Amino acid sequence: MEVRTRFAPSPTGYMHLGNLRTALYTYLFARRNGGKFILRIEDTDQEREVEGAVDLIYKSLAVAGLSHDEGPDVGGPCGPYVQSERKDTYLPYARQLIESGHAYYCFCTKERLDEARAEAEKKGETFKYDKHCLNLSKEEIQARLNAGEPYVIRQNIPTTGKAGFDDVIYGHVEVDCDTLDDNILIKADGLPTYNFANVIDDHLMGITHVMRGNEYLSSAPKYNLLYEAFGWTPPTYVHLTPVMANAQRKLSKRKGDPSFEDLLNQGYLTEAIINYLVLLGWSPRGEREFYTLKELEEVFDLEGLSKSPSIFDTVKLNWFNAEYIRKLSPEKYLELATPWLSQALDPGKFDFKRLGELLQSRTEVFNQLPGMVDFLAKMPEFENDLYVNKKQKSTLESAKAALAFIRPVLESIGDWTEQELHDRVMEAIPATGMKNGQVLWPMRIAISGKMSTPGGAFEIAYLLGKEETLKRLDESMARL
Ligand code: GLU
Repeated sequence: MEVRTRFAPSPTGYMHLGNLRTALYTYLFARRNGGKFILRIEDTDQEREVEGAVDLIYKSLAVAGLSHDEGPDVGGPCGPYVQSERKDTYLPYARQLIESGHAYYCFCTKERLDEARAEAEKKGETFKYDKHCLNLSKEEIQARLNAGEPYVIRQNIPTTGKAGFDDVIYGHVEVDCDTLDDNILIKADGLPTYNFANVIDDHLMGITHVMRGNEYLSSAPKYNLLYEAFGWTPPTYVHLTPVMANAQRKLSKRKGDPSFEDLLNQGYLTEAIINYLVLLGWSPRGEREFYTLKELEEVFDLEGLSKSPSIFDTVKLNWFNAEYIRKLSPEKYLELATPWLSQALDPGKFDFKRLGELLQSRTEVFNQLPGMVDFLAKMPEFENDLYVNKKQKSTLESAKAALAFIRPVLESIGDWTEQELHDRVMEAIPATGMKNGQVLWPMRIAISGKMSTPGGAFEIAYLLGKEETLKRLDESMARL
């Protein structure tokens, strides 16, 4: 049987990293098995609709490289792939369930339900619909429908017995039916709820493997009752353990955790995000950590999926990102770094190519770049303590002497290249009786004002240019 998986996001306006990981696993499983990966837009909750949100889903998947074989934009044999466009598909199925006794019309007003809910809350119980409308006579139902009374259709959950299903991660999951609520299948606006639409669509779209977040674990027994009622074979369920922000809570955009777009905007590389995400909840066999998407398509399996939650770790993600940045060609690095460098520096005034060479191995995330180079545009304020460095044997006194000595040497350099700076300064140092570090450390501090810089004294002096270097030197010497 051909494997058919689906990613079924609701258009929320951003790509949650947990969702992206679900999409990734779903995609990889289809590819690994030579199957189909389907995109379905679940937009039946029209109140939550966000403008432009569907386009963002297409864009995010395309950027991530997760190409779908069927979906709203590419078509396919099971379309439409947007639930609101399938509106008329669901009601006949709901009616079929009413016929077989697995569902029923409910005309209860909001007031009645609110009252019952408040009552339950007062008693400290979880609200469950009391099947009030289950026993209305056929005639009464017809009369009320004819009169145009608003209604919903509810699932008729048995009051006794058990409902369960098998899950690849969680094994056999079973609950007592009397703990389950009679879900709404069709809402008053005629649209299906997620609870109904996911079952109908997964069936009609021939989905063989459903991978989704484990927040659906507790509802899945109800879905299985629907499959049974229709006489359909349920898909293989894979409920994924959550991506946590910390031990206490899930990753959440509302709590300020980044979405996929946020990470891209901060200057993370897609390949690094994907590589990091795939390992967040899945382990390959062996120790290998670096995988391209193509390579993952060859090795991904359900056996490697984690049975416990994973914690999103920015430090580890940054490490991956830095590794991927290091692997870029210098040209590609420069291309990606330029907009970030330009935030702090005028490209006409600084040698970005040289800066790129100095920065590539030091870059973890691109958004750190402006802060790493802004000292070149403007001399930062700094404390003279910076001159003191035990390892370099630099003291305030030695620094003072070193700067006084180096000033005329620098001034005499005509050809302001790194090589020339290096040769002329190095050849002058022995006469001072100082160690290299005793001269080079204060020189770099005096012209950068920073403890650590991309490049040493010669690189920084070169980048600043002669005039600015001498100007900074003079100012720093005056304050020492
Ligand atoms: N629309 C659901 C969500 O975004 C999808 C759940 C599923 O994959 O079945 O959470």
